Amino acid sequence: MGSYKIQFKNVNKDYVSENGVLKVLGNINIHVKDGEFVSIIGPSGCGKSTLFHILTQIEPQYLGSIEIEGIPLEKYQKKMSYMHQKDLLMPWRTMMDNVVLPLELEGVSKKKAYEEFYKLLPVFGLKGFERAYPNEMSGGMRKRAALFRTIMVDSDIMLLDEPFGALDAINRSKMQEWLLKIWHQFKRTVVFVTHDIEEAIFLSDRIYVLSNRPAKVIEEVTIHFPRPRGTDILIDNEFLKYKKILLDALK
Ligand code: ADP
Repeated sequence: MGSYKIQFKNVNKDYVSENGVLKVLGNINIHVKDGEFVSIIGPSGCGKSTLFHILTQIEPQYLGSIEIEGIPLEKYQKKMSYMHQKDLLMPWRTMMDNVVLPLELEGVSKKKAYEEFYKLLPVFGLKGFERAYPNEMSGGMRKRAALFRTIMVDSDIMLLDEPFGALDAINRSKMQEWLLKIWHQFKRTVVFVTHDIEEAIFLSDRIYVLSNRPAKVIEEVTIHFPRPRGTDILIDNEFLKYKKILLDALK
């Protein structure tokens, strides 16, 4: 048994098309411990989303090996929840019916699914909007609904791909604080892709920095701020030190 929740060993990935071969991942070694919050930052187009596409087996071809709880990825039976950059809420479904979709797909009855929904509704700050359609909700509310739906997946691994990318700074900061609360409450293992250095420092236990394509790990930083964390750490000297290390790595 491997001791890591997720482990990438020497993972390489090329995309082959009529235009030739695009080398995307160049020998990636990454691990995530059980319950850890790990961020991956790197330049746009370096292959961050590709890591998630491989993990969720949307993209089944790669070289190297990946183990989840010590089991080869291809033999791992449990699901992982995955939140895409876009919230991907279905416009014709109410917020509530979007959120319970993973349960519906598992064959859970509507009645039970709604019971689960109402148990968690207060946590997500969406009370009163159960029957709202996505176009009647603000950007922040839509993100919370998308995260609510992600939590509904029966999985202890959450893959979040730039979930707050489209939000303004104030909403983004609120969502980050709120995500940390959710993470404490649900005790999931989180892999978080972002290109926002401050967001990564604020949220993470550890950060991997990837290089330009073909992506390699060029820096790994452990963030030692105690938890629970508040926005006061944003003006801490240590925060600036981490920021400098990450900025230098991305130069
Ligand atoms: P990031 O998430 O870091 O912005 P991606 O993983 O989305 O980067 O993409 C890495 C590179 O691979 C990009 O150049 C992208 O155009 C290319 N790419 C992604 N998916 C495919 C695909 N299915 N076929 C061909 N090229 C792809």
